[in-house]
Amino acid sequence: MRSVWELANPQLKDQIVYEPGKPIEETARELGIAPEDIVKLASNENPLGPSPLAVVAMREAVGNVHLYPDGSGYYLREAIAKRVGVARENVILGNGSNEIIEFLAHAFLNRGDTAVVSQYAFIAYKIAATLFDAAVIETPSPDYRHHLNAMLRGVTSNTRLILIANPNNPTGTLIPQREIDDFMNQVPEHVVTVFDEAYYEFLDQPPDVLQYVRMGRNVVVVRTFSKIHGLAGVRVGYAMAPAPIIEVLQKAREPFNVSSIAQAGALAALQDKEHQRRTKETVDAGRAYLEKEFKHLGVEFIPGAANFVMVRVGDGRRTFQEMLARKVIVRPLAGYGLTEWVRISVGTMEQNERCISALKEVLKTNPTT
Ligand SMILES: *Cc1c(COP(=O)(O)O)cnc(C)c1O
Repeated sequence: MRSVWELANPQLKDQIVYEPGKPIEETARELGIAPEDIVKLASNENPLGPSPLAVVAMREAVGNVHLYPDGSGYYLREAIAKRVGVARENVILGNGSNEIIEFLAHAFLNRGDTAVVSQYAFIAYKIAATLFDAAVIETPSPDYRHHLNAMLRGVTSNTRLILIANPNNPTGTLIPQREIDDFMNQVPEHVVTVFDEAYYEFLDQPPDVLQYVRMGRNVVVVRTFSKIHGLAGVRVGYAMAPAPIIEVLQKAREPFNVSSIAQAGALAALQDKEHQRRTKETVDAGRAYLEKEFKHLGVEFIPGAANFVMVRVGDGRRTFQEMLARKVIVRPLAGYGLTEWVRISVGTMEQNERCISALKEVLKTNPTT
């Protein structure tokens, strides 16, 4: 019998599979313990839970789920546009920002084209480019941060997209304004630059890339409701770009891609300043605590700008397993070639303390550190 792979798009055969953080339920089942006993610090989720205003709005929205959602996302796009100082025509919604990354690849990449990313960049970019059979040019990052000059050197006449996560996941590093401005002075016009700002709201002094959208440059700024707003489970992301780029991306969008519940939740979350403030406060204090403890333990870490820290533990896979046995889920990074590292999301202070006490035990038994 012939393999179905003879019929399928060949680039899918070697497509890498995104490895999500290990779910709490699955871990509880495997360890035979209650889900409440497990600390999940593996997916950069909000430790305080969803925005309470969003929960109320989503409960109300449930009564109308027999109706299709507003496919144009009018009110949410309007509210986002007002908040960031652009027009509704400059905003598109996605089923998570991950879907927007896919719109970008669908819209701009074909066989023979290239997308430039940094080594250790968020892996979703590589996955999206592969879907459309484009080649990914990965520029080196010996010190775990993005080097925009190296990325510019990776650009050829076939390059259509440059994808930059700022701050990056899993490294947590932030590119400063000056380097972005230098880059924007040099990037050629045949390339669309994507700034993925999933952790924008956690930054003390966020770089301003929306100025380039307002200037009409080929720039797309991607953000999400999954992180500070605590809505990862309902899947809403958005992007801002000059109107002609948004028009192109809208063509790649399925008509009802963001559910009515998600739209209602996101709209309310956007107004929930208190939840955003409390989340940032919790993350700032928790990250400082984790980094102080890593120093104490003598383990190398990359100072993070977002709600997670990347730590060098010796054997990432083994550390993940041994932390798991102690009911703490962290994220191994072998998929990024970072076999000696794990990524730890900032939790509540109680969760952070449990994580550190488990890590202490694990490091004691780990001969390689
Ligand atoms: C978490 C994350 C996202 C968010 O993905 P959603 O699809 O919006 O949940 C996007 N980009 C980066 C770099 C991330 O870390």
